[in-house]
Amino acid sequence: MMKTINLLKIGDLNHSVLVKLKKKLELGFKRFNLSVNIVQEEIPLEETEYNPRKRQYNAIKILKKIIIYAQNKKDFHVLGVMDKDIFSSGLKFVFGRAIKAEGRAPESPIVALISITRLRESFYGRTENKGLFELRILKEAIHELGHTFNLDHCNKLCIMRFSNSISDTDEKPPKFCEDCVNKLEIFFKNSS
Ligand SMILES: [Zn+2]
Ligand SMILES: [Zn+2]
Repeated sequence: MMKTINLLKIGDLNHSVLVKLKKKLELGFKRFNLSVNIVQEEIPLEETEYNPRKRQYNAIKILKKIIIYAQNKKDFHVLGVMDKDIFSSGLKFVFGRAIKAEGRAPESPIVALISITRLRESFYGRTENKGLFELRILKEAIHELGHTFNLDHCNKLCIMRFSNSISDTDEKPPKFCEDCVNKLEIFFKNSS
């Protein structure tokens, strides 16, 4: 059975980000027979998800909202994409968050979230670089989706390496190492 990843816009976001990401994700996950769809609906950001002291949105609250949105749709696999800075318990900021498939009730949706705000060169006071920006978005999307396919962080030269800063993101390749590919193959074989 072909799995579909649904890209969901969270708050204000340039639509072209999703269009480009869809194409690249389809290429990246081709060997696993995944398709990518852009959801027509979008979810607004709410004040209750914003922390004015941190000037950031709470990633976990937003993930919970995506779960509620996706709950009644069977086999719904969602990657939320947003353009506001996010934090997650204990961490000053995160590029994204995901809920692993492991330990999840079989009927609950699979969700992940990325924020593209810190992926722009201009965030660091440098000149914009569109190609780099798009590559970083792809990397963060693949990384968070990797978690939803039950992958943990990986110390190899691998997309599943943990990113603590944008240079960590730039250093890792936009693909899985051999070990992670093997784990993914087992995951997809068992879930099909
Ligand atoms: Zn991670
Ligand atoms: Zn790996």
